[in-house]
Amino acid sequence: MRAGGREDGVVDEVIPSSERVRQAMRAQRTRDTRPETTLRRALHRRGLRYRVHQRPLPDLRRTVDVVFRPARVAVEVRGCFWHACEAHGTWPKANADWWARKLEGNRRRDEALAAALAEASWELVVVWEHDDPESAADLIALTVANRRPVHTSFRSQPPSRTAAHTENACGGLTEVSD
Ligand SMILES: [Zn+2]
Repeated sequence: MRAGGREDGVVDEVIPSSERVRQAMRAQRTRDTRPETTLRRALHRRGLRYRVHQRPLPDLRRTVDVVFRPARVAVEVRGCFWHACEAHGTWPKANADWWARKLEGNRRRDEALAAALAEASWELVVVWEHDDPESAADLIALTVANRRPVHTSFRSQPPSRTAAHTENACGGLTEVSD
């Protein structure tokens, strides 16, 4: 028995029509969306090299759009609708409950991603669909440059007298011990 369905296509919007849901899910899974490819081209023009659609952390069951692994910078390109952008996000009235759960779920996942990356000392750069891709690429280039892993090369050098002498010669900060 069909509850409240009508033959003219106007259905009581209790359960999302499966076709609409299928389309929505498909749209969400679509990779290489236009804002994303535009951003990637802008990054590439700046001489940046990156990986796409990779898990930044092995334990994280989620990929991000652009990954700069040595610098530990992750870039997410977010659509205004799917990620409930504060400026352009809309909360559909039809199937409101279903959409609210869906969009809230996306938002929670985004927050969980940000928390996991922060925990692992990664930098997350969120680029919205409405952002200017060139400005976003500039910001990302700067972020990556600032996070180039210089520390590891310092750390890998054992502290030695030679190193201390070198630093002294350069006027560096060397602790003097007896
Ligand atoms: Zn927006």
